[in-house]
Amino acid sequence: MTLAAPSYDDVLARYAPVIGLETHVELGTASKMFCGCPTEFGAEPNTQVCPVCLGLPGALPVANAAAIEATIRIGLALHCSIASWCRFARKNYFYPDMPKNFQISQYDEPLCTDGWVDVLLSGDTYRIEIERVHLEEDTGKSLHVGGATGRIHGATHSLVDYNRAGIPLVEIVTKPVTGTGARAPEVARAYVTELRDILRALGVSDVRMEQGSLRCDVNTSLSPLDSPVWGTRTETKNVNSLRSVERAVRSEILRQSTVLDGGGRITQETRHFHENTGQSTPGRSKEEATDYRYFPEPDLVPLAPAEEWIGQLRGTLPELPSARRARLQEAWGMSAPEMAAANAGALDLIEATVAAGAPPEDARKWWLGELSRRANEAGEELAALAVTPTQVAELVRLVASGAINDKLARQALDGVLAGEGDPGAVVEARGLAVVSDSGALTVAVDAAIAAAPEVAEKIRAGKVAAAGALVGAVMKATRGQADAQRVRDLILERLT
Ligand SMILES: [Zn+2]
Repeated sequence: MTLAAPSYDDVLARYAPVIGLETHVELGTASKMFCGCPTEFGAEPNTQVCPVCLGLPGALPVANAAAIEATIRIGLALHCSIASWCRFARKNYFYPDMPKNFQISQYDEPLCTDGWVDVLLSGDTYRIEIERVHLEEDTGKSLHVGGATGRIHGATHSLVDYNRAGIPLVEIVTKPVTGTGARAPEVARAYVTELRDILRALGVSDVRMEQGSLRCDVNTSLSPLDSPVWGTRTETKNVNSLRSVERAVRSEILRQSTVLDGGGRITQETRHFHENTGQSTPGRSKEEATDYRYFPEPDLVPLAPAEEWIGQLRGTLPELPSARRARLQEAWGMSAPEMAAANAGALDLIEATVAAGAPPEDARKWWLGELSRRANEAGEELAALAVTPTQVAELVRLVASGAINDKLARQALDGVLAGEGDPGAVVEARGLAVVSDSGALTVAVDAAIAAAPEVAEKIRAGKVAAAGALVGAVMKATRGQADAQRVRDLILERLT
């Protein structure tokens, strides 16, 4: 007999999840963390390297001040304490994409500690506590050739690109997040979304998950509801989208519950998340900190940011996303769920559209409705659509003036997205203007009445609501270009 897998709700009625998130952010500095090499994404392999980031003997690192500044600003935005003195550490392990055989990181003396960030989930606030924010260097990138999936399994050989080696990387680690119950997957996603928006507002990274400049590892454990001890946790890596953060936590909760229900034990291990299946497979069993033989990096001076400098950096913090959302929600009269549906990118676009003259409710209707739908269909970010806030504002103006209706506006949008020019020009070129000329409309109205005498009879008998069918017929006959209100008036004029 095969037992059906328990449902998610059933699992959460018996187990409490604890999650933790480790997020790596590639900083957008012009040069690398410990050398002057450029950091541009997508350059020819191994063209942005030097003796320092290739780990050649005798090469000495020098810390990048801009990266330290960015890390302190991140710490301040996350309400952390900033260390007045701390050191870099060597994290020793061998991996082909790490030319020095150690990574310069921070261990027991991180630059920022003990912060928090509030995330909003359909009206409820969850405070996520931040354990630490530290600075380190990225590794290079291995490319496995010959296998079906680009993974090492089945590959004939591997190539290494060191362009990424030494790019400044900030690691942001949460404290264990408890008490979220069945909403753990959503809370995890909301946290990473909020963090991404904060980092974007700070301007410290381009935070592109698909390009790896924002990467997330998700720790998950389960324990029986009445248990005073937490379960053994696993760490899921390769989580490359916001949606996958949620999926990864959910699938791991279900996987662990199946193991526990069967009397098994959870192995502390790293797991790899697969975007295509939404499942994870086991990787290496997790090292303990002692395996890395950390010790203070002898080639770098300690970091000792002055109080005064930290104060200056605090003064450079932008309006943070949560404050901005509260301000815009008030100014635009949006509901909390509406606001929650708009990420920072959408808010930028709506704000720019309002600045270009559109009423807020129209600006948000277009960006969160029609344009979001098209972006989703194309699998793109809203900002990547080939339409500007100024063009959306023009579209709104054309509708408000009665020159076009919503349906025609969507056709005009097709033209704008296809590169045919601004909305006004598209309306002109495609002949999309609303037909409100009485002569032309009267002909269409008469034709519709003649084609449906039984409907006309009902209206004559006082059933005005039946006019809708005739309006529909006229709109169809004019390919949606008639002014619907005008058509209705004409029909009632003739039949009542
Ligand atoms: Zn270099």
